[in-house]
Amino acid sequence: MAKDDAVATSVDCVVVGSGVAGLCAAKELVQNDVQAVVVLEADGRIGGRIKQDHDVLPWPIEAGAQFLHGAKNSIAKQTLDEAGCTFKEHEWPDRYFFGRDKVWVHNDQAHPDVEKVHELFHSVSEREFERDVSAEEWMKEEGANRNVVELARSCYANDFACSLHQLGMQEVQQEARCWEYGEEYLVLDRPLSALVDRIRDGLDVRKRHQVSLIQYGACRERGGVTVHCTNGEVFVCDQVVITVPITILQAGEIEFDPPLPSEKVKAIHRLKMSNALKVVMGFRAPFWPEDMFDAICIDCFLPEVWMLDGHCQDISSGSIIQTSVVGFVAGEEAQAMSLMKEADVLARSLDQLDTMFGTPARPCPASTSYVSGQVLDWSKEEHVRGAYTYPCVGAHGAREILSAPLSDVLYFAGEATHHGANPCLQAAMETGIRAAHQILHG
Ligand SMILES: Cc1cc2nc3c(=O)[nH]c(=O)nc-3n(C[C@H](O)[C@H](O)[C@H](O)COP(=O)(O)OP(=O)(O)OC[C@H]3O[C@@H](n4cnc5c(N)ncnc54)[C@H](O)[C@@H]3O)c2cc1C
Repeated sequence: MAKDDAVATSVDCVVVGSGVAGLCAAKELVQNDVQAVVVLEADGRIGGRIKQDHDVLPWPIEAGAQFLHGAKNSIAKQTLDEAGCTFKEHEWPDRYFFGRDKVWVHNDQAHPDVEKVHELFHSVSEREFERDVSAEEWMKEEGANRNVVELARSCYANDFACSLHQLGMQEVQQEARCWEYGEEYLVLDRPLSALVDRIRDGLDVRKRHQVSLIQYGACRERGGVTVHCTNGEVFVCDQVVITVPITILQAGEIEFDPPLPSEKVKAIHRLKMSNALKVVMGFRAPFWPEDMFDAICIDCFLPEVWMLDGHCQDISSGSIIQTSVVGFVAGEEAQAMSLMKEADVLARSLDQLDTMFGTPARPCPASTSYVSGQVLDWSKEEHVRGAYTYPCVGAHGAREILSAPLSDVLYFAGEATHHGANPCLQAAMETGIRAAHQILHG
């Protein structure tokens, strides 16, 4: 009998978490004739780190995942293709802004520092890293000049959602060697909820079901696993797929009985997830070049800004806000910004845009066109608490340990458990499918 003698619902498999990893695991099981699969989601919303914000701008904006990274071999792209979606392809990065000297560099312009940083990172898969050095140490060893280091910080570390000294070169190398999706940045013609809707179709997903305890001691029996939710509901099943963010496992928010083996616990704590913020600003009119997609900014408050309008917005004619800029900040810089007042973050972001785009004739184009904005802070998402796991010093090998099934009843999926790819949508989806296949094929 379940703890406290609560009446338990009996199913074949419980999936914990309704991000793309959990949904893919459930879908794969159901499509392979596992009859009763239930997805338990702590939040009142399905999709995890795919989330649209409807409050800041007159059109929905992506609070979490924004782009499809790569057009090849991507299950995310295939799923969206099947749903009839189209994409706009961008080269990334598009432009660079050197804040100290107020210099712009376009990606087709030759610039020694820009060339150097990409040359270094593109060479990573061919190198040998005997020690697990941080990117910051490695760049010093390589004799990179200050601008090259700052470019690496704003471009690579920020994109991996960490600070440069946190970025671990052994995991970066593994990622570079495993990456098979291509380098394109694809922007969808509609909100990414299309991906969630497509996968979840037909699945039994229970919102506001926060899992707090998984008892798997009687796992040799059929129905030997009991899953308890904070709302008092209890599920009895044969297998559980756990897809919650690493922060939730690190915080011990799900109790395991018996406790997870120490090797797995150590792996959980070796992986690291930092924060990411999006600074969303709505304007009356654009003040940047029409063909501009993004800018990597060094020696600036915001390390990267995107101009994404025209792809997934439906501007109501009466709206004052007609266009937007999104700043993306990750790592310790995001943690620090998270402690600032929102008004100060917005003011400094506008200052930066004025500096970047101001002309003698129009010195403050951003401030004068600004209508409203908001800071979207992932550390404040109750059931996620951060961005995504980054290639981290000391984490090499931890993802393999975390992802190993336990006693043929506990299976682990989610972005942190992908062995190679940097945490992106298709990688998270692949881990869900992997867990389903482990259950189906042993
Ligand atoms: C700001 C930001 C920008 C990003 N940009 C991109 C991008 O442009 N392109 C890209 O490919 N990827 C991007 N990503 C990464 C991508 O969103 C993730 O890798 C992916 O969505 C993770 O999916 P998941 O299923 O592993 O985890 P999640 O989506 O986090 O799903 C886990 C689920 O578990 C739930 N949960 C937590 N605790 C419990 C519990 N106790 N019981 C039940 N449920 C629980 C959570 O609520 C959540 O819904 C971005 C992420 C962020 C945050």
